Amino acid sequence: MDHEKIEAAVRLLLEGIGEDPEREGLKDTPARISAMCEEIFGGLGEDASRDLAKTFSSGCSDLVVEKDIRFYSVCEHHLLPFFGTCTVAYVPDGRVVGLSKLARTVEVYARRPQIQEQLTAQIADAVMRELAPKGVIVKMKAEHLCMSMRGVKKPGTQTVTMARRGVCAEDDSLLATFFAMENE
Ligand code: ZN
Repeated sequence: MDHEKIEAAVRLLLEGIGEDPEREGLKDTPARISAMCEEIFGGLGEDASRDLAKTFSSGCSDLVVEKDIRFYSVCEHHLLPFFGTCTVAYVPDGRVVGLSKLARTVEVYARRPQIQEQLTAQIADAVMRELAPKGVIVKMKAEHLCMSMRGVKKPGTQTVTMARRGVCAEDDSLLATFFAMENE
């Protein structure tokens, strides 16, 4: 990341809104935000394939569900956070992946400027591509601060998105199983 550019941009933004970037409380803000970008946009330089490459052979052919993975992302239209939970489920085709790796995959794609629909699809596509299961379902539920603190100002509103791939897109009984397991 180009920290000089980020710091200069934050300074300009502060000037733009009529603030004094040199006053005590704001003096170190450009550097703080620049360092923070490494964390909240750190997924940009990362690839989920390495995490999903560690698989184990398994005879399991029933739906595996990892639910309520907490995630934090940043909306690319307003650069404000959206955050909530993600549930990833898949039907193995001879191989399973370590459960922490699914959470890690969510992280890799969440830590970028995003829109929730695209984030959901990217996680589903990465699991299909790298783990090659029979099918996958990804469901995300999030609150967007660009809806809560500005615009329509509707705090608490949840946006729910879902992506289904493979047999999970074709077989609605798997969707019913998914909802039943999700509500366990
Ligand atoms: Zn937004």
